[in-house]
Amino acid sequence: MTNTTDLRGESIKVLDDGFVRVVDTMGDDSSIVQAARISYGAGTKRVSEDRGLIRYLMRNRHTTPFEMCEVKLHVRVPMDAWRQWIRHRTANVNEYSTRYSEAIDAKQKTTPESWRVQSRSNKQGSGDYLAPEIGKMLSDREAELHQLDDTIYQERLDAGVAREQARKDLPLSTYTEAYWKIDLHNLFHFLALRMDAHAQYEIRSYANVIGNEIVAKWVPMAWEAFVDYRLEAMQLSRLDQVVINLLLAGKVADATEAAKSFGWITEDGDGLKANRERAEFEIKAAALGLTPTWL
Ligand SMILES: Cc1cc2nc3c(=O)[nH]c(=O)nc-3n(C[C@H](O)[C@H](O)[C@H](O)COP(=O)(O)OP(=O)(O)OC[C@H]3O[C@@H](n4cnc5c(N)ncnc54)[C@H](O)[C@@H]3O)c2cc1C
Repeated sequence: MTNTTDLRGESIKVLDDGFVRVVDTMGDDSSIVQAARISYGAGTKRVSEDRGLIRYLMRNRHTTPFEMCEVKLHVRVPMDAWRQWIRHRTANVNEYSTRYSEAIDAKQKTTPESWRVQSRSNKQGSGDYLAPEIGKMLSDREAELHQLDDTIYQERLDAGVAREQARKDLPLSTYTEAYWKIDLHNLFHFLALRMDAHAQYEIRSYANVIGNEIVAKWVPMAWEAFVDYRLEAMQLSRLDQVVINLLLAGKVADATEAAKSFGWITEDGDGLKANRERAEFEIKAAALGLTPTWL
């Protein structure tokens, strides 16, 4: 098993001024196996069988043995990403208090080549990057805004305004810090959502570090099972299966009829109307080597 003390203390940089640091871990792959054997009996104990058992548990959503492992992280995150992060209610949290202490004097900065355009297909997402010359102007303006905000915040503190009130105009780019403790089952849920391509780049950067650089070393067997059966797995709905089976049988017209009956295909004057479920299906079909041509 991995020596978890190797993971402790090391701050891993994220974004321009953030980090993730392991404060403590409890348990490892063997704790998952040990807990599962209470359910399934002692059985054999060879490493290859531990791996098989962990993979079985992950495949079959037998989740409680994964709760036997916990990790406590110290994180430094811009408040906009933290606002998404804190929605995961199944963790224990203590956050830096800007009522008790002055706000952390660091704001996330965006480089000229990192400004993203609004996605056309996903109202919550980003598309490509803006041209660097526009990005340069935006980054310069960001620096001015941060400077003005720092100055006004400091003016308020100097005038004797309470920290709890002086902070009210701090931007969401201001870094906050927290201790965040979570069990492995709920951490996998967090990682499945936040390592996903649909998660915002900033929180995804943290999730990638936690997953690839911490969890993968801490519980390598559980991580491998998570990647295979959850993170990079594909869920096929009943409707997906109907259409895929028809496509595999070469029945393109029937597949199209089925897709229509599911409401995936409607037409307006310009041809097929955009449909989110059809678009998601097409991505899954492409991963399976199928390119449906709707008739
Ligand atoms: C891409 C993306 C976009 C999002 N967009 C929005 C948005 O526009 N607006 C918005 O408000 N949020 C948004 N969210 C946040 C999302 O709705 C969840 O709040 C967040 O992902 C936490 O998920 P969770 O509740 O499953 O996790 P946790 O809070 O960690 O809970 C884990 C699991 O525990 C169980 N659980 C926890 N608490 C309860 C409870 N009280 N009752 C029953 N079961 C419970 C559930 O099974 C839950 O899945 C978005 C999240 C993602 C990943």
